[in-house]
Amino acid sequence: MKIDPRQIPEEGLSLSGSLPVTDYDLPPGETQGWDKINYRFNLVRTGKEVTITGTLDSEFKITCARCLDPMPWSLNINDFCQVCPIQDDALLDLTPLIREDIILALPLAARCELDGAGRCPYSGRVFTPSDRDDFAEKRRATVWRDLDRLKTEN
Ligand SMILES: [Zn+2]
Repeated sequence: MKIDPRQIPEEGLSLSGSLPVTDYDLPPGETQGWDKINYRFNLVRTGKEVTITGTLDSEFKITCARCLDPMPWSLNINDFCQVCPIQDDALLDLTPLIREDIILALPLAARCELDGAGRCPYSGRVFTPSDRDDFAEKRRATVWRDLDRLKTEN
C-alpha cells in the first residue's frame, strides 16, 4: 500500500478499504481462504512526517493445533501506529509496516476453545484432560524434568 504525502490535506485524511493478502508475502502455512485485509487509517501530515493510525482486520480459517481441523479466525489489530518520514514528497510504502504488524498478530499455535465437556466446537471431537496436553504443557514438563535431573547431578 502506497501513499502520496502530497494528497494528505491539512486536516488529515481517512482511508479505508481492503488489501489483497497476496501483495503482503504472508506465510500461508496454516491458513485457508485468507484473501484480504481490511484497513481503516487516519493520516496526518506534520512537517516532514506522516503519522498513520488505525486498524487492520481480517477473517480466515486457521488450522487448530489441537484437532488439526480448520476453524474460523479473526485477526484484529486495533492499534496500528506508524510515523513515516517524508523525503522529497516521495510515495510512502506502508506494505512492509503492515506486513510486520500482521505477522506479529498471527497466533503461533491457534487452538479452539473446548466447551465444558471438552468438545471442540468445530471438529466435534471430545478431548479428555490427558489428550489436552499441548506443546506448552509438554515443554513445561520437560523443563521440570531437566531441572530435576540437574539437581540430582549436582
Ligand atoms: Zn479444535
